[in-house]
Amino acid sequence: MLRSVILAAARSHRVERIVETAPVSRSIVRRFIAGEHVEDALQRTRELVAAGLAVTIDHLGEDTTNPQQAEATREEYLKLLDALHAAELTPAAEVSLKLSALGQVFDEKVAYEHARAICAKASEAGTTVTLDAEDHTTTDSTLEVLGRLRAEFPTTGAVVQSYLRRTEADCRELAVTGSRVRLCKGAYKEPESVAYQSRLEVDKSYVRCLNVLMSGTGYPMIATHDPRLVAIGEDRAKWFDRNPDEFEIQMLYGVRPDEQLRLARLGYTVRVYLPYGTQWYAYMMRRLAERPANLGFLARAVSSRG
Ligand SMILES: Cc1cc2nc3c(=O)[nH]c(=O)nc-3n(C[C@H](O)[C@H](O)[C@H](O)COP(=O)(O)OP(=O)(O)OC[C@H]3O[C@@H](n4cnc5c(N)ncnc54)[C@H](O)[C@@H]3O)c2cc1C
Repeated sequence: MLRSVILAAARSHRVERIVETAPVSRSIVRRFIAGEHVEDALQRTRELVAAGLAVTIDHLGEDTTNPQQAEATREEYLKLLDALHAAELTPAAEVSLKLSALGQVFDEKVAYEHARAICAKASEAGTTVTLDAEDHTTTDSTLEVLGRLRAEFPTTGAVVQSYLRRTEADCRELAVTGSRVRLCKGAYKEPESVAYQSRLEVDKSYVRCLNVLMSGTGYPMIATHDPRLVAIGEDRAKWFDRNPDEFEIQMLYGVRPDEQLRLARLGYTVRVYLPYGTQWYAYMMRRLAERPANLGFLARAVSSRG
C-alpha cells in the first residue's frame, strides 16, 4: 500500500517540485547518487574500483519526450564512455541505459539508433552496456531492441524483473551462451494482471528465475540486497559448478555498502549500480518505496514546505 503511494508520487510533478527543493533532500540524494556531473561519477567509480568493486554507471533521466532530449542523453553517454576510457576505468566500469531516456516512448527506431551508437562507443572503450528494465509496457520493445543490439554487440546485457509473470519464460530464452542477464525483483508499480503482488510470490519467482539462469550457459548478474536471495545465489553457483568469474552479484550505490565489500572479499565480482545527474527524483522515489524506513525523509520534505 505504502509502496504504491510512493510510486504514484514518483510520477507526480507537484510532489517532485516540493521534494527537489526541500533542504532535507540533499543528504539522501548524496547517499544514493554520485553527483551531478561526469567528473562526480568518475571520482566515485575510482573509489569503488580501488575498493575492489566493479561498477555500472547510469546517467539519470527517463521518459524522454522529444528528440532533442534523446540526443542530449546519447551525447552524455558518449562523453561518459570517453572519460571512463581515458581514466582507464574500463572494463571495471560499464554503463546502464534506459531506452526511455533515448526516446523509446515516441520512436523506438530513434532509441535503437542512439543505443547502437552508445554500444559502439562502449565497445571502442573496452566495455559494454546493460539495458535497464522499465515498466511492463516497455518490456517487449526493450527485449526486441536488445536482440538487435546483441547481433552486433553480443555482450550487451539484459535486465529481467522477477515480479513479472512472464519473466521465467524470458529467462529461458535469455539463458544462452554469451548472454549477460541481470535479475532483479522490479521497481515499478505494476498491475496484478502482469505482476505478482506479494513479496513471497516475487521472491519465489526470483528463485525460479535464478535456477533457470544459473543452470543455463549465460552470465547471470544477481541484482539484489536481499540476504536470503544472495545466499541462494551463492548456493546455486556451487550446485551448478560455476566459478566466481561465471556470474556476478550487483547492488545499488548507497545500499548495504559493507555487504558489497564483504562479498567482494570472498572473491565474487560485485558490481555497484552508480547513478549520476540532475534528474534524480524518480530514481530516488523508487529507492524510498523499497525501504519504508526512509520515509521520514519524505514527510520532512513535505512538511518543511508547509
Ligand atoms: C544493480 C541493480 C540494478 C537494478 N536495475 C533495475 C532495473 O533495471 N529495473 C528495475 O525495475 N529495477 C532494478 N533494480 C531495482 C530492483 O528491482 C529492486 O527494486 C531493488 O533492488 C530492491 O529489491 P531487493 O532485491 O534489494 O529486495 P528488497 O526485498 O526490496 O530488499 C531486501 C533488503 O535490502 C535492503 N534494501 C533494499 N532496498 C533498500 C534501499 N533502497 N535502502 C536501504 N536498504 C535497502 C533492506 O535491508 C531490505 O530488507 C535494480 C537493482 C539493483 C541492485
